[in-house]
Amino acid sequence: MCVPKTLGGGGLGHLAYYVAWQELFHRCGPHNRLALYALAHWAFGPSRLLERITPDARERILPGLMEGTRSMCFGLSEPGAGSDASMITTRAVKEGDGWRISGGKIWTSNAPIADFCVLFAVTDADQAVVKRGGISAFIVPTEAPGFTVKRVIQLFGHIGGDEAELVVEDLYVEPWQLVGELNQGFAAALYGVSLGRIYNSARSVRSGRWAIERALEYSQTREAFGNPIASYQGVTFPLAESATELHAAHLMGINAAMLLDQGNPAVKELSMTKAYSVQVGFRAVDRAIQTHGARGFTNELGLTEAWHALRIVNVADGTNEILNRTIAGRLLKGDLDL
Ligand SMILES: Cc1cc2nc3c(=O)[nH]c(=O)nc-3n(C[C@H](O)[C@H](O)[C@H](O)COP(=O)(O)OP(=O)(O)OC[C@H]3O[C@@H](n4cnc5c(N)ncnc54)[C@H](O)[C@@H]3O)c2cc1C
Repeated sequence: MCVPKTLGGGGLGHLAYYVAWQELFHRCGPHNRLALYALAHWAFGPSRLLERITPDARERILPGLMEGTRSMCFGLSEPGAGSDASMITTRAVKEGDGWRISGGKIWTSNAPIADFCVLFAVTDADQAVVKRGGISAFIVPTEAPGFTVKRVIQLFGHIGGDEAELVVEDLYVEPWQLVGELNQGFAAALYGVSLGRIYNSARSVRSGRWAIERALEYSQTREAFGNPIASYQGVTFPLAESATELHAAHLMGINAAMLLDQGNPAVKELSMTKAYSVQVGFRAVDRAIQTHGARGFTNELGLTEAWHALRIVNVADGTNEILNRTIAGRLLKGDLDL
């Protein structure tokens, strides 16, 4: 749906991506096992990120991804490099026409089952050390010699484990595998993370709405002290506050997605949207648990599963602190358009 037409997709933009993810999480809440794969997740399936791959890579990789029979992962973070991704130490050393890559990655989502990995490595250490480029992205088949999934990391709330630690040892890549320009891989990384911020904002806002709707329903049937608990403002006012916050976050998300569709990188707006959406979404789910009393903790309702998932989103695709750092940086540079 949201993959560019030049790659064989439907050509709908960022706004459609935001709204479609919202709808999936609104309908399904945390019970979204297959829904997550109905729409291509930016890091697992085809997305605008792949506009940067070479014509040769398009021929080799796109058909399976577009059919949904193959999937990808995005290998940027390392044990020593998270928020400050420029600290990565995975190296790609020139050899013949190509490069030989060694290093390791961590927290790589979908890596245990992915067919390809967009792998980031230092190609010019001098540029990288002064944060002026020097990092490149390569698309790598996960079955290539030298690419190993070392272990699946079990994170709380992720049944089965989607995140993995990777070891890359003398992995040879050819020029067709370069994604974007040599030494300019960070642009691809930042764009990928932007797509992740849209996805996670949509997920947070509508998981929150899903939870508030469950709480409103329950509050009208559950009785205490002779009345439905919905008649007590102590129960309904927190839900009203969350509804207001979710509405604001929703409008911020629509605005950020529209800016992206206009070609504006919307760095400040997207950072604000993601930071705010995950906080209010998480708070809404927490309040919905409280409305349900002890029932809020039962597994069949899925509220605690949604709570777990949104707690994790406070870190994935940029922690709240790093988003605030970005917002503050933009404000200090004079970007005061609010
Ligand atoms: C569920 C999940 C999936 C993920 N999937 C992927 C993936 O597919 N691919 C991938 O490459 N990575 C992935 N990540 C990794 C993610 O990008 C990193 O976790 C994130 O960038 C933070 O890095 P870190 O965990 O190393 O924390 P650190 O960078 O070590 O930060 C630790 C703490 O210090 C704070 N901090 C750091 N610097 C500052 C500062 N300047 N000012 C204030 N506070 C600061 C942070 O906000 C955080 O609270 C995933 C993470 C999670 C949780």
